[in-house]
Amino acid sequence: MNTRIGFGWDSHAFAPGVPLRIGGMTLDHPQGLAGHSDGDVLLHAITDALLGAVAAGDIGSFFPPGDPRWKDADSAIFLQLALEELHHAGYHIANVDTTLILAAPKIGPVAGEMRARVADLLGIEIEQVSIKAKTPEGLKLDGVAQCHAVAIVERAPDSDELKSMSAVIESQRQLEDVVEDLLSSVHGVPKKRDPVYDTEDIT
Ligand SMILES: [Zn+2]
Repeated sequence: MNTRIGFGWDSHAFAPGVPLRIGGMTLDHPQGLAGHSDGDVLLHAITDALLGAVAAGDIGSFFPPGDPRWKDADSAIFLQLALEELHHAGYHIANVDTTLILAAPKIGPVAGEMRARVADLLGIEIEQVSIKAKTPEGLKLDGVAQCHAVAIVERAPDSDELKSMSAVIESQRQLEDVVEDLLSSVHGVPKKRDPVYDTEDIT
């Protein structure tokens, strides 16, 4: 299987006195999202989507909320870890699609900048990142921000083949070395890797 999909979801409540961090940006708003970290609901959802795509657990299993190290942490750290898990598994991101659900502030005016920021954090092109936003009509959830994220990931081209190829080359070299050592010790055959020119000829 060369393509996998991951899904992530997150929610945080709005609270006064905290900066509003969404998509690795600080937005101008009277309230921010409360959380143990910086409460970046978008980055948390993407982090879970990437981890989920390679069945590597979820954000909480790597960064337990009670751990003082992650108090007010920049969520870019979580995203970076998910990326490393993804690459370790031999996959790279094809595209990421997200939907934010929040009453305010309006995301539309900053969506372009946010896509660029998230693409930068993920090391991909802006065209590979989609950020959409809706208001929570009829949900009575105006004090909450939610985010859904999906990620399609693809196996990095030939990563397996390259690995097995280099293993073959390595074992062939070792084999040749052994044979050459045997030949030179038994028959006095000079090693192929000795200098091909006679230094005394260079005059
Ligand atoms: Zn979160």
